[in-house]
Amino acid sequence: MIHKHDLVIVGAGLAGLRAAVETSGDYNVAVISKLFPTRSHSGAAQGGIAAALGNEEKDTIDWHIFDTVKGSDYLGDQDAIYQMCNEAPDAIYELEHLGVPFSRTKEGKIAQRKFGGHTKEIKDENGNTKRVPVLRACYSADRTGHVILHTLYEQCVKRNVHFYSEYFVLSLIMDEGICKGLTALDLRYGEIHTFHSKAVMFGTGGYGRAFRVTSNAYANSGDGVAIAFRAGIPLEDMEFVQFHPTGLYPLGILVTEGARGEGGYLKNKDGERFMKNYAPTVMELAPRDMVTRSIQTEINEGRGIDGKDYVHLDLTHIGAENLKERLPEITGFAKTYAGIDAVTQPIPILPTAHYSMGGIPTNINGNALSDEKGTIVQGFYAAGECSCISVHGANRLGTNSLLDAVVHGRRAGKAILKYLEDAELLPLPKNPEEKDREVFGHLYATTSGENADKIRVRLKEQMTLKCGVFRNESGLKEMLDIVHELEERYKNIHLSHKGKIFNTELMEILELRNLLEFSDAIVTGALERTECRGAHWRTDHPKRDDKKWLQHTFAFKTEKGIELKYKPVTILNHQPQERKY
Ligand SMILES: Cc1cc2nc3c(=O)[nH]c(=O)nc-3n(C[C@H](O)[C@H](O)[C@H](O)COP(=O)(O)OP(=O)(O)OC[C@H]3O[C@@H](n4cnc5c(N)ncnc54)[C@H](O)[C@@H]3O)c2cc1C
Repeated sequence: MIHKHDLVIVGAGLAGLRAAVETSGDYNVAVISKLFPTRSHSGAAQGGIAAALGNEEKDTIDWHIFDTVKGSDYLGDQDAIYQMCNEAPDAIYELEHLGVPFSRTKEGKIAQRKFGGHTKEIKDENGNTKRVPVLRACYSADRTGHVILHTLYEQCVKRNVHFYSEYFVLSLIMDEGICKGLTALDLRYGEIHTFHSKAVMFGTGGYGRAFRVTSNAYANSGDGVAIAFRAGIPLEDMEFVQFHPTGLYPLGILVTEGARGEGGYLKNKDGERFMKNYAPTVMELAPRDMVTRSIQTEINEGRGIDGKDYVHLDLTHIGAENLKERLPEITGFAKTYAGIDAVTQPIPILPTAHYSMGGIPTNINGNALSDEKGTIVQGFYAAGECSCISVHGANRLGTNSLLDAVVHGRRAGKAILKYLEDAELLPLPKNPEEKDREVFGHLYATTSGENADKIRVRLKEQMTLKCGVFRNESGLKEMLDIVHELEERYKNIHLSHKGKIFNTELMEILELRNLLEFSDAIVTGALERTECRGAHWRTDHPKRDDKKWLQHTFAFKTEKGIELKYKPVTILNHQPQERKY
């Protein structure tokens, strides 16, 4: 079956829906999602969305810019960061006017809380300038993503956006370098459909599911990133994966940084607030990469609770009333998943794979790029976590990613509107579904072979061990061999359930292909980058090396394997400095 639309957006998270709101007026816009839209991972975002509104205390856009550049360990492109931070206040007020129910200050303004790495400048008692945490994250209790996602979905319904829910996108249709649409599997009936369009935008989210301990939803299998990679589009900075400091032990379900923003303490087995040894000024509110390494070091050096691989997040001094009002979800999670009453007991936590800084390279208008020189792929856009602009560089600051998704969903929407003014529906190449049909034909014909679960479990275990918080050359080399071995085994994968209706085994096999494909790019990039920067920490190269590595990695898929090229970082006012907090 062929569907025709002016624009097809893949992904119903904040990036996809914000772009749909922008473009749906005069054009026929479709949103495809493998999940029901409001189940997208954006809905799990708890803590907040950053903007220097200054509602609770003085704040400036320049401070937000500086924090983001510094947080990125100077790998973020400063033109993109300037733009995002400058557009942040408008983007928030727009959300407010669309109906997002933000928490409020006493005067009725949007309430703001502290988050790691977001700071203001003050003078200390000796008249020296220093930076301390600032109230910058706009929030709605600890359900910020949930309320924004639902509001945007309502706005899309009102604007007659056409939703294809529970369709799993398989491939981009690229013809002579132009994107003309895509193919997708209708999960309900097991049929392949073609979507023919003037433009395609990906808002397909992150790739945390390649790791065993992760805060990410099952759906975050990096499909969009892998689909673009297979279509000949490079991937940027894939080695930068953020590990969040506070995942609920043992699975890694997220305990928002908002818990530390509200004053939570991190303690080791001796009850010591160990962050004083790592980031004495900002303590628990240091950026994520630093807090994560501090926790992992405490665990590795035997100061985990009872010698186990977790430490404590202590909220008991915050008080029952405050917890109920400001962190209701977290107290609920602790109860449900760990049997802990956060009002009276500390919560067991460990670092958890959380956010993908890398992804599909784009320019500041959301155009996907086909090389490190900035060449645009006609008709193909990306925004949100699947893209790399790069505003987060080597380490994202908390609450900057909802902002990234909203600002760049909106910007990509505006750029697409311009493009659609004179774009045409170009003829499709012959048999656009041929390759997908071959894959399906092969899978449905298998009678024996490898089990997808076994391959997936091994990948995730080993990625957490060898390509996690701390990395080194020998571990990464072993990991690369493991990925290649698993890719070989995948060729012999067996689909045991041959039904067509909601065949979740089939979907998981397709997701596994994607996990393997982009994990290869993560590990290859990580092995090559012989320095420590942000979330990428090489114990065998313990320094940041600006001379050699102040550049973005571009991974290309070639017949001989992955080839890496590099692109300089855009630096404007902020020259790289040592990153201390
Ligand atoms: C637990 C948690 C808490 C977080 N808290 C915060 C926070 O407080 N503040 C903050 O700034 N950030 C937070 N983040 C990060 C932030 O939520 C995400 O980066 C952001 O929401 C991503 O939005 P997105 O629109 O790019 O993708 P998502 O919301 O992940 O949506 C992806 C969409 O793509 C669709 N899709 C994917 N693959 C396919 C396919 N093959 N076919 C069809 N559809 C597909 C999915 O169905 C989904 O609709 C958090 C993340 C997690 C995991």
